[in-house]
Amino acid sequence: MYPKLEINIKKIEQNALKAVNMCKEQGIDVAIVTKLTLADSKVVDSFLKAKPKYLADSRIKNLEKLGDINIEKMLIRMPMASEIEKVVKYSQVSLNSELETIKLINEECKKQNKTHKVILMVDLGDLREGFFKKEELFSCIKEVINLPNIILEGIGVNLTCVGGVIPEEATMEKLVSIAREIEEAFNIKLNTISGGNSSTFTLLLEGKSLKGITNLRLGEAILMGRETSYQNFIEGFNHDNFILKAQIIELKEKPSVPIGKIGKDAFDNIPVFKDKGEIKKAILAVGRQDIVWDNMVALDEGVEILGASSDHLVLDVTKARKDLKVGDILSFNLFYSAVLASMTSPYVSKEYIY
Ligand SMILES: *Cc1c(COP(=O)(O)O)cnc(C)c1O
Repeated sequence: MYPKLEINIKKIEQNALKAVNMCKEQGIDVAIVTKLTLADSKVVDSFLKAKPKYLADSRIKNLEKLGDINIEKMLIRMPMASEIEKVVKYSQVSLNSELETIKLINEECKKQNKTHKVILMVDLGDLREGFFKKEELFSCIKEVINLPNIILEGIGVNLTCVGGVIPEEATMEKLVSIAREIEEAFNIKLNTISGGNSSTFTLLLEGKSLKGITNLRLGEAILMGRETSYQNFIEGFNHDNFILKAQIIELKEKPSVPIGKIGKDAFDNIPVFKDKGEIKKAILAVGRQDIVWDNMVALDEGVEILGASSDHLVLDVTKARKDLKVGDILSFNLFYSAVLASMTSPYVSKEYIY
């Protein structure tokens, strides 16, 4: 059935092995982030080959799916008050920034007769999650260390995701120095200093110092073979792990510019078209419900993506191979957002390549 997403398990496994080993050489353990593939079990199996310290996800439902796997699970989105029971049940460590929530976890731990590890997030400028004010961080720690069922595992940072802030050596030094300050002030030892995601992995690739950092949480670097500070493909990693195949349902010569009074398209944009005269257009049976059309590239030479509506992807195939016909299948390499849509769409069938 089409559209179909071909997931190359072997290639993902090779990336995972490389990334985990590169981190290990620097004394850094890895939480491999499973959210992009909705914690797909075959993809997760390929992660496990690399022997990461944790599997991590932002959604507790995904960690619940991994319940049988004997590895520590890390919840990387701050827990909702409404999911605390599952958080304690299905994760052993979570990223947190609210004392109220940590108290709820502590109470739930008592019920389940468990302990739970907490990594407190520090906001170093990306302005998504974490303590921005040091007084607030320290007063939270003062209480957290007295909660009997909570273990203060360490501190962490997340960068680039919302504010676009690129991690630098100085950013990492700052995180480590905050950790040392905490250790001194409270006379405790922090086991984990979690330095970020695939954008911090860029520093490691550049040979920069991550001294003191003990953990990274990696999704995109492994799944897509791409670092996220500058969106470069990582040398020696595989970059074509998710290939979408879709079928041509219409193939006709048409003008390149729409005819008539132009308003907004189905998604509230005013479309702009380059006048290329009459062109050969193909429509594929796949759309915005399944992909992000400007986050993918055609693998067939001479195929250009023009746009998409919910269920149609429109292509200029004027320069493509001459014998294209209705019913043919075209292939695309998907990037992060396109894979996210594709994995989430119930209309895309999944096939695993080994
Ligand atoms: C998604 C996420 C990650 C992984 O990000 P990648 O860019 O895919 O490596 C790490 N940490 C947190 C908190 C996240 O939300």
